[in-house]
Amino acid sequence: MLEVEKAKEKVAFVAKKMAEEGLVVETWGNVSMRTRDSIVITPSGMDYKRLNFVDMIVMDFHGNMIEGKWKVSSEYPMHRCIYRNREDVTAIIHTHSTFATSFAAARKEMYPVVEDFAQIVGSKIKVAEYALPGTDELAASCINFLKENAAVLLANHGVVAVGNSLEEVLLTCRLIEKNAETSVYAAMLGGPYIIEEKNVKELRRYYLEQYGQK
Ligand code: 13P
Ligand code: ZN
Repeated sequence: MLEVEKAKEKVAFVAKKMAEEGLVVETWGNVSMRTRDSIVITPSGMDYKRLNFVDMIVMDFHGNMIEGKWKVSSEYPMHRCIYRNREDVTAIIHTHSTFATSFAAARKEMYPVVEDFAQIVGSKIKVAEYALPGTDELAASCINFLKENAAVLLANHGVVAVGNSLEEVLLTCRLIEKNAETSVYAAMLGGPYIIEEKNVKELRRYYLEQYGQK
């Protein structure tokens, strides 16, 4: 199967999963994947339940549509900006998950408080400066605060996670939400203990080199 066709299937599958798992409400959020010459991305404001791989949009890296019968995601400028600035990124998921968005609404950085989050995501997640959705300002703020990290929070908005495969990035989104939820509940019990940086590094190393059936 052609690279782009495969990417369309993957993007549609992961977008549905993101919605089924409650990481977004209704039609919000968006998913994309980089192919050699294009960005395959979800259409704007469409019901994930009815979304199919044929509904995916193929864009180039300069703002032009290559293929697609719907309006492209309003956050295409943000996805494009990340791909253009991060050679290492091949997959992006943008969610509005509730607990992570609570940190974004409070404009508070999120620290690692659970070990699986530390293993997959690593250190704290920063909050990008506020900008309206879909704007070039949001794209610029996002990349500015994302830097080399695996994720960033968009103020009063949601989460952007990046990585090397959509499976990996979906896991990142799930663990961001778990770490956020645990942080909030632990705060009710007197506050979470943040995992020390040296232990975060060791947890990450262990995950990459030893965990599972290596
Ligand atoms: P789209 O439906 O246009 O992808 O936008 C949803 C969203 O999350 C905007 O930030
Ligand atoms: Zn959004």
